[in-house]
Amino acid sequence: MLKQNWILILILLPFLEFSQNDSLFIRKIYDECLEKGHSYEDLRSLCKEIGPRLSGSPQAQMSVFWSEEKMNSYGFDKVYKQEIKVPVWKRGNKETAWIKKEKEWIPLHILALGGSVSTNGLLSGELVIFQNLDELKKANPKNVEGKIVFLNQTFDQKDINTFKAYGGCYSIRGEGAIEGAKKGAKGVLIRSLASGIDTHPHTGSMHYDDNVKKIPAAAVSTSDAELLQNIIGKIELFWEMDCFSGEEVTSYNVIAEITGTKLPNEIITFGGHLDSWDVGEGAHDDGAGVIHCLEALRVLKALNYKPQHTLRVVFFMNEENGNKGGLGYAEWVKNKGEKHIFALESDRGGFTPKGFSCDGNFNLIKEKINLYSLYKPYEVYEFEKGYGGVDINPLKKMYPDILLFGFVPDSQRYFDFHHAESDVFEAVNKRELELGCAAITSFIYLLDNL
Ligand SMILES: [Zn+2]
Repeated sequence: MLKQNWILILILLPFLEFSQNDSLFIRKIYDECLEKGHSYEDLRSLCKEIGPRLSGSPQAQMSVFWSEEKMNSYGFDKVYKQEIKVPVWKRGNKETAWIKKEKEWIPLHILALGGSVSTNGLLSGELVIFQNLDELKKANPKNVEGKIVFLNQTFDQKDINTFKAYGGCYSIRGEGAIEGAKKGAKGVLIRSLASGIDTHPHTGSMHYDDNVKKIPAAAVSTSDAELLQNIIGKIELFWEMDCFSGEEVTSYNVIAEITGTKLPNEIITFGGHLDSWDVGEGAHDDGAGVIHCLEALRVLKALNYKPQHTLRVVFFMNEENGNKGGLGYAEWVKNKGEKHIFALESDRGGFTPKGFSCDGNFNLIKEKINLYSLYKPYEVYEFEKGYGGVDINPLKKMYPDILLFGFVPDSQRYFDFHHAESDVFEAVNKRELELGCAAITSFIYLLDNL
C-alpha cells in the first residue's frame, strides 16, 4: 500500500508542481494588475486625450499615434503597424427630430445609424409602428408607402445574458432600412438597442441593399420609443440629418509583440478594437478591450516572463463599421506564412470578469489545465463554448485548427453604454477593469504554457 502511494505521488508530482507554479504566477499577475496597474490611467488617457475614434476620423488617426507611442514606452520587442483601408462616414451636423402631438412639439433624442444617408433637408411624414422586422416584412405596402417606419422591438428582459437580447433585436438596426425601402417607406427609425429605459440614443452599423432605395435610418432613445408607442392616433415626424459617406482612407492596425523564446514562429494574438463610434468616448466599447490586452503584455514583461510563443497584441481598426482591420489582419498573417495557434479578443466591456468562451474545442485546454481551480480564488468560473470576437473571427477561415477565445465579463450593464454618448471613461470602474486585465493576462500565460 505504502509503495503504491509513493508511485502515485511520483506520477502526479510534475503535474502538481506545474499547477502550483501556475497558481503562484497567476497570483503575481493579479498583484501587479491590482497594485501597480497602468490600465485605468491608460484608458483615461485614451478616452480623455483622444476621445471617440470613428474609423477614418482625425481622432482615429490620433489614436494610432497614441497606441504606437504607448506601446513603445513599454519597451516591447516589436511595435509596428499594418496598413489597411477603411470607410469614411460622417455624422455631419447634429441630427434633429420632432414629433407633433396635438399642439405640442416634442423633440426626440436621435442618432443617425452608422452608414446612413442624409434626410436631404427636412423630411416629414406620418409614423407607422411595427414591433419587429417580421411584422414590417408581412405588412401591406399600402400601409407603409410614403410613411416613416418606426421599429420598436424591445430587448427580451428574460435573457440573462444581455448579448443574447441584443442579438434578438439586431436585425431592426442591420436590415430595417432595407425592409422599409422595399415597402416604399421614406425613412426608418428604430428603438435603440439597449437594456434599460433612458434618454441616450444608441448608434451602430446598418446595411443597404443595392437593389432597393437607400433611405435614412436613425435610432431614438428607449424613453422616446416608449413615448411614441404610447401616443394614440396619428404621429407626424419632422426629421433632419446630413450624414454622408466619403472615399476610403488609409488607416492601421497597431501591433506590439514579445518574441517567443522557444517557438517564436508560433503566435498567440490577443486584442480588441481601437476604433469606436463617434459619440461618447468608446470607453467600454472597446477602449477597455484594447487596454486589457495592452496591460496583459505589459504585466508579463514587468514580471520578467519569457514566453515560449510569440505574444502579439493587436489593436484592430474599423471593427464597428466594416471589420477591415480583422479581415485585413487574417489575410496578411496568412500571406506571410505565419503560424497562429490561439487568438483572444476582449470586446464586451470593462466589467467584472466571469470567464472565457471558446470557439473551438475547449476541452483540449480543460483536459490539460484545471482552469476552474486556478481561477477559483479570483471568482472567475465560466469556461464555455461560445464566440471569440468579430476581429479575430476571420482567422478561423485561414487557420481551421486555431482556437479562438472571447473574454466574458458581466454583461448586465453593457447595453446601457454600448454605442451611446454615455460610454465614457467614468462609466468604467477601476477595479473591474484591473480584474479583467489580470484574468486575461493569466489566460494568455496559461495558453503559452500548454
Ligand atoms: Zn466593440
